Amino acid sequence: MTSDPNCIFCRIVSGAAPAAIIYDDAKSMAFMDAMPQSIGHALIIPKRHAETIYDIDADEAEMLIDRVRRIAAAIRQSIKPDGLMVAQFNGAAAGQTVGHIHFHLIPRYEGVDLKRHANTLAKPEELAALRDRIRVALKN
Ligand code: 5GP
Ligand code: ZN
Repeated sequence: MTSDPNCIFCRIVSGAAPAAIIYDDAKSMAFMDAMPQSIGHALIIPKRHAETIYDIDADEAEMLIDRVRRIAAAIRQSIKPDGLMVAQFNGAAAGQTVGHIHFHLIPRYEGVDLKRHANTLAKPEELAALRDRIRVALKN
């Protein structure tokens, strides 16, 4: 299966669901997390529906980590967090709540605790403003 109509991330890929999209190419997409744990929290996904790290091959893994690297650099340049956490959960026991593999890029700020995982929706206009800033950095 390359797309699952019941999957929220497949719906973002197809355009059926909205998202603040930072980056989009033939195989991957990056967008702002709708319930960010910190300012600038972004997600990187393969466009193809794959549930976990056990469902991707070496080429797809390499492609995804390269996108993680590129978006991380753009977040650092544009948002200037004190640190940046990369996280990827497989299975509910590990905290996975969306069954389409994704990498979290979570900026960290000195003295600021993370908000709870997948808990509070951010304002769309705030996510759009962060998306715009990161996109500018991606083009540089
Ligand atoms: P997981 O727990 O599966 O690693 O993370 C899923 C992430 O997706 C969470 O951080 C959650 O806030 C985010 N998320 C869930 N639904 C949506 C959505 O519809 N749009 C966006 N942009 N993010 C979502
Ligand atoms: Zn999917």
